[in-house]
Amino acid sequence: MRIILIGQAGSGKGTQAVRIAEDLELPHISSGDLLREAVRHGTPLGKQADAYMSRGELVPDSLILDLIGQRLDQPDATAGVLLDGFPRTLAQAEALDERLRQRGTPLDAVVELRVPEEDLVARLLARSRGDDRPEVFKQRFAVYHEQTKPLLDYYHKQGLLHSVEGSGSPDEVFARIQAALERVARRV
Ligand code: AMP
Repeated sequence: MRIILIGQAGSGKGTQAVRIAEDLELPHISSGDLLREAVRHGTPLGKQADAYMSRGELVPDSLILDLIGQRLDQPDATAGVLLDGFPRTLAQAEALDERLRQRGTPLDAVVELRVPEEDLVARLLARSRGDDRPEVFKQRFAVYHEQTKPLLDYYHKQGLLHSVEGSGSPDEVFARIQAALERVARRV
């Protein structure tokens, strides 16, 4: 299966992505992890991305499309993937659609994790990553509303969107995601 997981910072997206990928035996492709690795290794792309990330802004589409494109070309990603954090803009979604269309491997499902904003703030304050400082995550929320939310409508129109309540324990949330994906699998 080819699945996209969408959720704001603090929604539990990373945790759930790992579980879904394990459960369905899919490679877990996280754009945030790929970017953080590039920053850590000091690659040219990492150097460019770093400033955007530490401000809570999105890195330019061209950079992320290169990075994800290379990852999707690897042999383990041909049968199925779980995409976590990508796409995040309409331009990225359209580029992904085009690529998948050319390969004849369309998306199966887009899962949105919905968590009230006050819960997100509480969760983010409890962890301590560099881009989780209050002024940075406020910017990340604003970016989500402006640039990523339009994707929900885009995928809804394609009949691919499954919105899942992200409050509760990780087990409860995972069970909801599994239920949604089982409905999809019966159709595939
Ligand atoms: P994440 O770990 O998914 O929350 O991503 C951390 C940061 O990496 C984001 O705040 C962005 O700066 C950058 N990033 C991750 N994925 C993307 C993407 N698809 N497009 C642009 N920037 C991204």
